[in-house]
Amino acid sequence: AIALRKVTKRFSGVTILNEVNLDMPAGSVTVILGPSGSGKSTLLRCINHLEKLDGGTIRIGGEIIGYRQKGQALHELNSRDIARQRAEIGMVFQQFNLFPHRTVLQNIIDAPMRVKKHSRQQATDKALALLKQVGLAGREDEWPQNLSGGQQQRVAIARALAMDPGVMLFDEPTSALDPELVGEVLQVIKQLAHSGITMVIVTHEIGFAREVADNIVFMEGGKIVAAGPTAEVLNDPENGRVRNFIATVL
Ligand code: ATP
Ligand code: MG
Repeated sequence: AIALRKVTKRFSGVTILNEVNLDMPAGSVTVILGPSGSGKSTLLRCINHLEKLDGGTIRIGGEIIGYRQKGQALHELNSRDIARQRAEIGMVFQQFNLFPHRTVLQNIIDAPMRVKKHSRQQATDKALALLKQVGLAGREDEWPQNLSGGQQQRVAIARALAMDPGVMLFDEPTSALDPELVGEVLQVIKQLAHSGITMVIVTHEIGFAREVADNIVFMEGGKIVAAGPTAEVLNDPENGRVRNFIATVL
């Protein structure tokens, strides 16, 4: 489970996340919706400690992310402990962020070999299985730039999964894609849902959210303004903010 308590983040004195409380049960799928600038990406980046917090705590499986507690005070972990925590958290970005000068296979086996000390053979076997899982069997020796955006994003997902993360964070994984490539990536993410991984997905794909999310979180101005089971949040006729937002992205 992921538990946020009073998570606060400021940039240059401006509050971007304002005492956010949120519980995401282990194995659940949470979709985060909200207008541009509401703090969605910042929230994801805080979960894997790409951002330091200005207040509050984030726990995954009970362990505080990025900090250790000493009395009342929190001290930031050393880089090695942060890396150990991050190894359990996969992240997929809008821009696929594959290493351009490495093949698909090299992109996937790098972290398991370097961080998890897997043998090349072990990492390769797993990579090939993952490529099959994301519909890219036989593409292991390609260069990223020779793949479509949808294929590159599926490699990025395979690369994240190669670390066996307990948590996967997706930040608008399809918004850089041509419309005809969105479906194949959503399909792969959908197949991962409820496989035991705790998933947090920022997306504007409402239809996808309706299908795959257990819970929806709606953010505005650094706060959660609506949260709950998917049908409840999306169908709530009282919730004008959510309704207006959905109308603008559909
Ligand atoms: P979008 O839908 O456009 O991706 P978002 O909800 O993901 O928006 P964030 O990227 O989290 O929003 O940004 C929230 C606010 O924080 C914005 O006003 C942004 O300009 C600001 N912000 C984000 N990162 C930084 C940074 N590194 N330095 C200063 N301000 C930042
Ligand atoms: Mg964002």
